[in-house]
Amino acid sequence: MKRILILHTGGTITMQLHVSQNDSSRSAVAFNLDFFEEQVPGLREIADLDSKTLFLEDSSNMIPELWARIAEAIEADYGNYDGFVVLHGTDTMAYTASALSFAFDNLSKPVVFTGSQVPLSNRRTDARRNLINSVELATLNLPEVCICFNDRVYRGNRATKISIGDFDAFASPNHPVLAEFGLNLDIRSQYRPDPGAFRNRARFDPRVQLVKLFPGMDFSRTIPGDASDVRALVIEAYGSGNLPAGGSHTLIPALGKYTRSGGIVIITSQAVYDEVDLDKYEGGRQALNLGAISAGDMTTEACITKIMYLLAHYEDHITIRDLFRENLAGERTR
Ligand code: ASP
Repeated sequence: MKRILILHTGGTITMQLHVSQNDSSRSAVAFNLDFFEEQVPGLREIADLDSKTLFLEDSSNMIPELWARIAEAIEADYGNYDGFVVLHGTDTMAYTASALSFAFDNLSKPVVFTGSQVPLSNRRTDARRNLINSVELATLNLPEVCICFNDRVYRGNRATKISIGDFDAFASPNHPVLAEFGLNLDIRSQYRPDPGAFRNRARFDPRVQLVKLFPGMDFSRTIPGDASDVRALVIEAYGSGNLPAGGSHTLIPALGKYTRSGGIVIITSQAVYDEVDLDKYEGGRQALNLGAISAGDMTTEACITKIMYLLAHYEDHITIRDLFRENLAGERTR
């Protein structure tokens, strides 16, 4: 029987129904396997399970140090288990899964993130199905950081939360689902990392800012004046990476000032499907001339965590920019 470690980090899945449903930090309790056995009959038949509570946080409280704690827990027990299931709040699950996908070199075992929209102790919970699916998935040969939710499996760094109230909380707009649970488990695509020793490189520099453009935005207040506090700026531009570059409402002078001071500019899109093409319109072309980097078809979550990861590991801007354009962990198509 495969050995699987379940790591608890919090979120709705770890909330007790009878206490506040709105504040998981107050209502979370340290789960143990006896509780699972009671709530999820049959779980033990899938794998030889162990479980550890790392912390119990609403996932809005996640910070890079907590991503690193999850990564360290997996690293510490990497040789002892065949796969890992991480119970996590859905709100920032895609960020944590993306961050770990960059941090783990040569991952050869499944790391499956799951959670639920309704607490495990609730009669109508989606947690049972998500847990059973995730543990089963963790026993298979799917060496990815993935998100398993509502019978679907997404590559972690391609997923994004799309629904607050529906059991179908996630989507992977620019990448097919990796697997689907129906009558049988249908595995559709598998990521094959380079062979080599597993390595945890979970360090992240949070000196990053995300700016979502809107018509009429005051760029003097939203674009940093220089790169001393914000080393990289991720801009959620319009459509194909389009942005205002003409007349009085133009982003270009502020962007130019920021890049000349040593800031890195990444342009992603408010449109979730398809990829950024900075060559298509004047605004994108001008940003390109200032050295902006296209995020391709990456999610915003992947952009933020990838640049945090690169800034923590490399000083040289050419290396950071080149690596950002590369596909490091299946996060971008090209
Ligand atoms: N607020 C919760 C969290 O992300 C929501 C959830 O788990 O679904 O921690």
